[in-house]
Amino acid sequence: MQNIRDKIERTFRGEIRFNEPMSAHTSLRIGGPVEVMVFPEDLASLRSVLSVAYREKIPLFILGEGTNLLVGDKKIKGMAISLRFFRNIFTKEKNDKRAVLFVEAGVPLKSLINFIQKNGYSGIEALAGIPGSFGGAVYTNAGSFGTEIKDVIVSITVMDMKGEIINLKRDGIKFSYRTSNLPGNLIILGADIVLQKDDSHKVAERVKRFLRDKRTTQPLGEYSAGCVFKNPEGDFAGRLIEAAGCKGLKNGDIEVSRVHANYFINKGRGTYRDFIELMKMVKTKVKRYSGVNLEPEIRIIERI
Ligand SMILES: Cc1cc2nc3c(=O)[nH]c(=O)nc-3n(C[C@H](O)[C@H](O)[C@H](O)COP(=O)(O)OP(=O)(O)OC[C@H]3O[C@@H](n4cnc5c(N)ncnc54)[C@H](O)[C@@H]3O)c2cc1C
Repeated sequence: MQNIRDKIERTFRGEIRFNEPMSAHTSLRIGGPVEVMVFPEDLASLRSVLSVAYREKIPLFILGEGTNLLVGDKKIKGMAISLRFFRNIFTKEKNDKRAVLFVEAGVPLKSLINFIQKNGYSGIEALAGIPGSFGGAVYTNAGSFGTEIKDVIVSITVMDMKGEIINLKRDGIKFSYRTSNLPGNLIILGADIVLQKDDSHKVAERVKRFLRDKRTTQPLGEYSAGCVFKNPEGDFAGRLIEAAGCKGLKNGDIEVSRVHANYFINKGRGTYRDFIELMKMVKTKVKRYSGVNLEPEIRIIERI
């Protein structure tokens, strides 16, 4: 894998790291070393990395900010690609009613929320406090307080494994709860979103309110990957986990949060196995208590 540096074109701009610990790139602070992690700085560099991976049959994984991931502790064969250098927001159209923005995949959602407050654009205030990148939010159809990122998407720009750039219209994409039918082998480069013009103070007020609600109901300052299980139809996974008596349940250094039972917290030295076993324990207790089969919301990656 070391000779990958020679195979990537000399024009490549960005960073290449070998045996990079995934634990340094996940909000849970869990994850073994991935053989190679690349951070291309531009489209040509991304394309040259993809063509090497394609030719050499290297398995690929697109990494956002790792806030929705549980990654295995063992060495991971393959390549993780981060678009963290793609962090521009372009205003494509604006008038006194609305604006269309093109947001690059590596833009932290937090920066986008700051941008809409500053410029007085409304539509995604409820997503304030969700960590991660814009690309990750689009891929997972991130949502909060009844708003989902899909609600503002006009089109998504992706790159396929051959380096071709394709624009996908919103109508052709099926979004559902925390997912979409976007094929896993497409790299989201960014998306056009449409927002309504509003007074920036009003937007900031709403952001503040949503953030306050989030801070009081979710353990935002601890090592977690957000909600572990999907909410079943008509109910809340957190409520079922709490009712089954799992709040505070611990396995190794992973604990069911006492603030919100659908968050599992790494208290410092938690491992992949600890987490998976705790998921099984909670699933069994919830099934016994309520008959409901919980399904994972976090993305579990043992190999790529
Ligand atoms: C404290 C906390 C609170 C949270 N609250 C919420 C919440 O309220 N609502 C909610 O929906 N989520 C929540 N989450 C989960 C998480 O933040 C979101 O799912 C977030 O959108 C993931 O973005 P990311 O950049 O971290 O993606 P990652 O975790 O890095 O990746 C998630 C998936 O997206 C794919 N992906 C990422 N970028 C790209 C790209 N450019 N192209 C193609 N695929 C890509 C990855 O391959 C992976 O399959 C929370 C997490 C934490 C830790």
